[in-house]
Amino acid sequence: MKKLKASEIRTDGGTQPRAGIDENAVTEYAAAYESGEKLPPLLVCFDGKSYWLADGFHRYHAHTRLDHAEIECEGRQGTRSDALWMGIEANRKQNSLRFTQQDKAEAIRMILSDPTLRGKSDAEISRQVGVDGTTVADHRKRIIGNPKDAPPAESDTRIVLRNGKPYQMKVANIGRRPAPAPEPAPDAPEEHLEEIESYDAPSPAAPAELRDELGKPVPAPMRANWQKATAALRALMAQVQAVRKGCGEIIDQPWAVFFTHQRAEIDLRNAYHALKFALPYTTCPYCKGSLKHDGAECKACKGQGWVSKDIYESAPKNLRA
Ligand SMILES: [Zn+2]
Repeated sequence: MKKLKASEIRTDGGTQPRAGIDENAVTEYAAAYESGEKLPPLLVCFDGKSYWLADGFHRYHAHTRLDHAEIECEGRQGTRSDALWMGIEANRKQNSLRFTQQDKAEAIRMILSDPTLRGKSDAEISRQVGVDGTTVADHRKRIIGNPKDAPPAESDTRIVLRNGKPYQMKVANIGRRPAPAPEPAPDAPEEHLEEIESYDAPSPAAPAELRDELGKPVPAPMRANWQKATAALRALMAQVQAVRKGCGEIIDQPWAVFFTHQRAEIDLRNAYHALKFALPYTTCPYCKGSLKHDGAECKACKGQGWVSKDIYESAPKNLRA
C-alpha cells in the first residue's frame, strides 16, 4: 500500500473499462470519505514511469472532488494495457457498482482496440469481461473484420462561432452520403467517451449581472473579455469533444486499421484540458481587477483583471480571502 498524489495517478490512458462515470456513485463515495469511512484502496499499475489507474475510477473522482492531496493505492508492476486488463476483472468482480451490459461492451471494445490485448483469445477475453465467447467473436468481427465499408456516423449538430458567440448548427443533411448508416448492433455502446460535457449555449441576451465561478459579480470593465473568452473557449471545447466522439465512432470501421485511437484520445483530451484551464474563473486575487499590484503592472492576470482556476488556486490563501 502506498500514498500517491492525485496528480501522479494517470487516468488519461483509456484504462477505465466502463462506458462512463456514474456521478451519483462519485457523490456517494465522496460522502463516505467525508464521514470518515474507509473504502478499498485504488489499484494502480506502475510501468517504471507512470502509475496507471486500473481500478477505482469512481473513488478517484470522489478523492479529487474533495481535493484530497494524497490517495491510498495498491501498486502492481504493469503496463497501461495491464491496468486495463486488471481493471476489467476488478469491475466484473465487485458488487457495489453494477458492471452493465454497456460497460461490458465498452470493455470488449477497449480490449480489441488495444494493440497488446487484442491478441488474447476470445475465450480469455470473455472470461475476463464476463460474457460468452460468441459476444467477443461478434465484436471482433465488427471491429476488425467487417467486409462492408460503411460511412462514418456524423453527429447531427456542430458548434460554430459567429462574432465570438457559439451557435449550434444542424448538419444532418450537409455532405451526408445517400447510403443509409448501418444499424448499430443492439449491444453496441452508445457512447464511447467519458467526460463528455454537454454545452449549453448561453442565451443571446447578455445577463444583467455576470457572476464568476465563485458566485461573485464580474466587475464591469472586464466583462466583455470575460464573456468573449468563455464563449470562444467553451465552443472550442465542444468542438474537441465532437472530434473525440467522432474518433471513437470510426474505430469500429474496417478502414480505420491504421488509426491509433489511444494516441488521438490522449492528445485531444490534453487539448480539451488546455482550453478548460484557460477559462475565466474569478477576479484576479493579486490586483483585485485593478491591474496594478505592488505599484507595478499585475503579472498574474496579464492585463485581464481575471484569472483561471489554476492561477487562482495557486495564489496564497490570504489573497484568496
Ligand atoms: Zn491581476
